[in-house]
Amino acid sequence: EPEQVVGDAAGAQSVIIRDAMGIVVVLAPWNFPADEILLLTLPALVAGNTVIVKPSEVAPLTGAHVVTALQSVLPPGVVQVVQGDGAVGAALVNGPIDMVAMTGSSATGRKIMAACSRDLKRLVLELGGKDPMVVFADADLPKAAHDAVYFSLFNCGQVCCSVERVYVEESIRAQFEELVVAEARKHVVGDGRDEASTVGPMVSKMQRDIVEDQVNDALASGARLLYRSDLPAGGREGNFFPVHVLADVGKDMKLNCCETFGPVVAMTTFSGSEAEAVALANGTEYGLASYVYTQDAAKAHRVATRIRAGQVGVNCYSLFHANLRCPWVGHKGSGFGFHSGMDGWRQFSLPKSLVFDIPAPEQVTARL
Ligand code: NAD
Repeated sequence: EPEQVVGDAAGAQSVIIRDAMGIVVVLAPWNFPADEILLLTLPALVAGNTVIVKPSEVAPLTGAHVVTALQSVLPPGVVQVVQGDGAVGAALVNGPIDMVAMTGSSATGRKIMAACSRDLKRLVLELGGKDPMVVFADADLPKAAHDAVYFSLFNCGQVCCSVERVYVEESIRAQFEELVVAEARKHVVGDGRDEASTVGPMVSKMQRDIVEDQVNDALASGARLLYRSDLPAGGREGNFFPVHVLADVGKDMKLNCCETFGPVVAMTTFSGSEAEAVALANGTEYGLASYVYTQDAAKAHRVATRIRAGQVGVNCYSLFHANLRCPWVGHKGSGFGFHSGMDGWRQFSLPKSLVFDIPAPEQVTARL
């Protein structure tokens, strides 16, 4: 961004410039192992910083390739890669660096924020979500059912803005459950290289165990199992997990309050009141994305403005449809800082005011 001259006051001339932060550490998750590096690294570089990238230990090779591609067009040392797990990430955060830009879980975000507090390092945290979808009775129900399933299963449910909780107006419960199960039946769990597969494996056994534990907890606590898909020929070998559709998922069940990150559609009902819908949507520590389905734009607007989340998709998936000028941002426990939009670029530099009580240099006066 060029220097901005804001004119004189009390006889002195003021100019606003922006300083780069210095050395930025980018810590990435595994679920979109190239995008999540680029979304923070490119604006950091453009703002004049140098960047150290630490890819996820679960997806190191993609990160290495991304950094090699950037190095091929940048001067030596401007961007570097360091591989390793959370301990390596912690060592980088505690090192002589100026800013941390991290995408990952809220639990890790809290640790990083505590570490950064020691020397007040600047921080961007893009964290987890437990994103709600509210379906009012006046919605286009086949579309809402399609989207409830697709946005729960996309990337095997391993997306920060996956639909994780579906709140269905009570009066359409039976019809909507039928539509959702019919949609879920269209999906095939299998090898991602097989064209017939629509849902691939989970990233790791650990991630599969988390999802399985949440599903078992819900079923033991009174949730209804509406559908469980088949597994590919090798069964659970390879970290596959069946598509699940559950109803009556209670407020205190793990499936309703902890991030799931798996191929599960978790439904429950609400009365149809807007206030109840908003309270349910806002009922977790998270606030990343959320979804409202209704044909009534005024109602959608009222509900969307009261939901505490960084993005609200009305009858759509905000990830696919948002204009790139919209910043991607978490509210509450989903973090702070931005992907995309002007805010996503500006956060990697700091404004600095220069106030001249002597005649300002020519490059300043030329702009007046
Ligand atoms: P994670 O928190 O386990 O790890 C993220 C990164 O932080 C990794 O590189 C990891 O090695 C590093 N790390 C771990 N402990 C650290 C520590 N103490 N100090 C410094 N670095 C440390 O997350 P994950 O499992 O890789 O990714 C999944 C999570 O990311 C989910 O919660 C998902 O919602 C979230 N996510 C959020 C967004 C968003 O835009 N908000 C996008 C993608 C993923």
